[in-house]
Amino acid sequence: AAPLKVCIVGSGNWGSAIARIVGNNVQSMQKFASTVKMWVFEEIVNGKKLTEIVNTEHENVKYLPGYKLPKNVVAIPEIEEAVQDADLLVFVVPHQFIHKLCDQMVGRVSQKALGITLIKGVDEGPGGLKLISDIIREKMGIDVSVLMGANIANEVAAEKFCESTIVSLIIDRLVVFQSLKNTVYQQLTVLDCFDWVRLLGTLKNIVAVGAGFCDGLCCGDNTKAAVIRLGLTEMIAFAKIFCKGPVSTATFLESCGVADLVTTCYGGRNRKVAEAFVKTGKSIEELESEMLRGQKLQGPQTSAEVYHVLKQKGIVDKFPLFTAVYQICYEGKPVQEMISCLQSHPEHN
Ligand code: NAD
Ligand code: 13P
Ligand code: CA
Repeated sequence: AAPLKVCIVGSGNWGSAIARIVGNNVQSMQKFASTVKMWVFEEIVNGKKLTEIVNTEHENVKYLPGYKLPKNVVAIPEIEEAVQDADLLVFVVPHQFIHKLCDQMVGRVSQKALGITLIKGVDEGPGGLKLISDIIREKMGIDVSVLMGANIANEVAAEKFCESTIVSLIIDRLVVFQSLKNTVYQQLTVLDCFDWVRLLGTLKNIVAVGAGFCDGLCCGDNTKAAVIRLGLTEMIAFAKIFCKGPVSTATFLESCGVADLVTTCYGGRNRKVAEAFVKTGKSIEELESEMLRGQKLQGPQTSAEVYHVLKQKGIVDKFPLFTAVYQICYEGKPVQEMISCLQSHPEHN
């Protein structure tokens, strides 16, 4: 069979870290073509095009500085050109951009191509809540697997050991993606509980914002542990309402569950910006651009998407932490009130 051509759709912090792994892995396996195309959202960095910098210096100096990309990873600014002959597509853009990108890719991607998404987030619209992989599948007509886990990009780039979880509806597909992503420092586990894994990676970003508020208020580790635990109870309750498949606690013991929740509540960007929100009084938007310099937060927007769905269903009061995070981020609710909402949490009744 002809070697499979891989395209990475996205080149931010996580996208660039994963490009290092994929770029290296394809070189040692005959089933993959040796060139990996990477779609890069074009911008000017230090007076030069980012794609040119990536293709000459082999480093994404803006989103993953300090780590070289393999030379077989080629940056392409036009999405249509990047994806057109790909057999395998790795989607890794901030979730707020996926709709527009899918519209640009429609008709360019082979119906036989397989996708995998590393994107954490949901979309909410007139039809209710939609998971990102479903948006990609419906818009592009291709099968989409999912990779989630406790994977802070900078630590993965530094080749520190971590675990990830991959899920797919079709087991053969997992094997392909597993060989693309596996490394000695990244151990993959394969599961088939599709909806639950996707929701876990999304909802934990809201909890991480709550953990950051807690740090900003200097509440200490006991309170933060309570935020994490109560956040988890809301994640499970939410999943039980919205998942089509089973919601087993065993899945929560995988990397995509407890490990991702913990790492994001301690080391993630959502936590960091939420802490600064309390300490500086600046808006989330202002802090995002000041502190992340182009990288994007997923937690605050996810809290809004989830809140709208909870409101539609009339079940806001069953999710006091999710709701407080949304109201603090967007409606001027005082941060201190998050603590009182924890004290009167329905879990304690
Ligand atoms: P990022 O936060 O670094 O976001 C910046 C990227 O967005 C850049 O590539 C930029 O070019 C692009 N961008 C900016 N404006 C755009 C536009 N208008 N249209 C399209 N793209 C635009 O991105 P990331 O860290 O790679 O995150 C992607 C996904 O991966 C997110 O869902 C995130 O939750 C998830 N994730 C991130 C990490 C991490 O540690 N960074 C770890 C696991 C999962
Ligand atoms: P942040 O987006 O909060 O940095 O979380 C990264 C992540 O998803 C780690 O698995
Ligand atoms: Ca929306």
